[in-house]
This record gives sequence, C-alpha cells and structure tokens, in this order.
Amino acid sequence: MASKKTCFSDQWLDLSLYPEFANWASKVPGRREQAFCKVCKKLLELGNMGKKALITHSKTELHKILQSILFGVTSLDPKVIVN
Ligand SMILES: [Zn+2]
Repeated sequence: MASKKTCFSDQWLDLSLYPEFANWASKVPGRREQAFCKVCKKLLELGNMGKKALITHSKTELHKILQSILFGVTSLDPKVIVN
C-alpha cells in the first residue's frame, strides 16, 4: 500500500496564486501534512490530496457561511460610516 503524504505549500498563502484559499488557510507549525482554517478554526488533514483538500473544504457549507460573515458583510456594519 502506497500512502503518499502531501505537504503544505507556502505558495497556497499567496493571494495572487490562490485567491480562493490564501486568505483563510494557514500553516500548522511542525505539522506539514496539515493545514489550519482560520475561518472555521479547524485543522484540515491534507492526506494525499494536497491543495485539493483545501478546495474541498472551501466548498463546505459551514466554511462558506463563516467566510461570508467574516469577509463579505462589512457593508452591514453601520459603525463604518461615521463621517
Ligand atoms: Zn473553513
């Protein structure tokens, strides 16, 4: 049985290369085969899927909801319009 583990790539944190997950994915110190979702505060196993694991996670309902709350609804905050 071949189990080829994939490792976190620093490229995934580059917004110009991977805008779909660069703003929420982060590295886990000492655990290259995992990633951390800053939005869901959840550890993701990369397994042998590599960045596909991140893409799959970004499509989960919870992640989409939390992401829209964190990044998508700033216009709903009336405190921003003070002047
Ligand atoms: Zn997430």
